[in-house]
Amino acid sequence: MNPGARSRVWLNGRLVPAFRARVSVFDRGFLFGDGVYETMRAYAGRPFRLAQHLDRLGASAWRLDLRLPGGRRGAARAVRSVLAANRLGDARVRVTVTRGAGPAELGKTAPARPTMLAVAVPYSPPSPREYREGVGVILARTRRNPREALDPAIKSNNLINNMLAKMEAARAGARDAIFLNIAGHLAEGSTSNVFLVDGGVLMTPALSCGILPGVTRAAVIGLARRMGMVVREGRFTPHDLARADEVFLTASTVELLPVGRIGRRRLPAARPVTARLLAGYRALVARELGLRR
Ligand code: PLP
Repeated sequence: MNPGARSRVWLNGRLVPAFRARVSVFDRGFLFGDGVYETMRAYAGRPFRLAQHLDRLGASAWRLDLRLPGGRRGAARAVRSVLAANRLGDARVRVTVTRGAGPAELGKTAPARPTMLAVAVPYSPPSPREYREGVGVILARTRRNPREALDPAIKSNNLINNMLAKMEAARAGARDAIFLNIAGHLAEGSTSNVFLVDGGVLMTPALSCGILPGVTRAAVIGLARRMGMVVREGRFTPHDLARADEVFLTASTVELLPVGRIGRRRLPAARPVTARLLAGYRALVARELGLRR
């Protein structure tokens, strides 16, 4: 996320030029990754499913005993302000809340004032070719953090686990890496949820596999059920992945992104279910946000 030279960010209740925005070297987000965040997509200046993103931000903060400055309203204001200040239509917005500057001691978890930062940049989508041909993914050797250690449902600033998988993907020339959990079941991508289609049935790892409850994931599950598809949330294995007719990733910033290759194996070029769901998702976004298409 690289805001332009003239862009403004929202920092602790004020809009400031991005190049002048400063956070303390004692900020616990910097020292310990002690913070939470959300990334969302805005269409024509309107964030999609803002309420769901704010719910998840609140839930992540709650798990860390962290207070959102100004509560949900404060976070919503930050999102809307950076979008308006930078006159952005299609944008990617990130809100980060850290525990703020405080004693550099792990146990001191109650500094005076959390830090809240919101940044919005113009949206840059995956290429038309990636949507057409599908992206390459690998199965990561790195396993997803077990829920009992650091629950992936907490969207925290500790992204080292995700980054290790993403680095594996980059080394293999793939766009993303799919994590297995410690039990060997499919979990999620490094920054996405994963769906399989087998014999017309839509399958995705259950939340109990230890994943982020994706906002896009929930939207796709709802959409597929309304379209009359059978959706199974459960435990799936690399074998299920290998025999799937179609595989796609979901995230706010990529919507539904088809997978064309897993490791060296190419998937069938025809992806009728993914295509139907992607069209349905875009129609849903347009309907919910009142966009003209
Ligand atoms: N899983 C992980 C680990 C992520 O980081 C993300 C998004 O960044 C997702 C799933 C998808 O979540 P959403 O659909 O809410 O963007």
